[in-house]
Amino acid sequence: MLQILTPTKSTGRTVWPPVASPPHYPIIMLITGGYQVDLGPRSTPRFHLVLKNHTCNCGATNCRGKHAVKVYLKAGGKPAPDGSALKYTTRPCPICNDHTRAVDGRWECLSNSTHYFQYRVTRLRAAREKWLMSLSPDVAAYHAEVLTAFVSAEARTTFLAEHPLTYAAGA
Ligand SMILES: [Zn+2]
Ligand SMILES: [Zn+2]
Repeated sequence: MLQILTPTKSTGRTVWPPVASPPHYPIIMLITGGYQVDLGPRSTPRFHLVLKNHTCNCGATNCRGKHAVKVYLKAGGKPAPDGSALKYTTRPCPICNDHTRAVDGRWECLSNSTHYFQYRVTRLRAAREKWLMSLSPDVAAYHAEVLTAFVSAEARTTFLAEHPLTYAAGA
């Protein structure tokens, strides 16, 4: 079914999922043995994994994540449960091999949140390649030619010459 999008406000960007109010940063999540800190989209690095021994995975000497945890604890925030079994919820980032965390049913790279999407795009491209490979040689060649037809005008002319129109031009 065709979905018709009727934006109520023209803000120029779509926010998904829709949120009633923007979250307050920093967000501090407790994990066994430490704190997962989200300083918000304007901070670089945005995510910090601050352990209970006051080290952070970002390696910065003046880490703002550690500072955020300090402020949080001073304000009476609940300390993270003890334990050395600090476990990352998912495997390392397939792009940069850094740690990832689970978010909204997917993973997110702690050093660069766009890595997930890069990975997905690469996967989709690979799936497309695989699909092209699975086609019969004739069909695959046709798709390859159609693709190049949009790449250069010269290739397009060649393609059109080899695949003449079956109807009279201008008819
Ligand atoms: Zn840090
Ligand atoms: Zn990454």
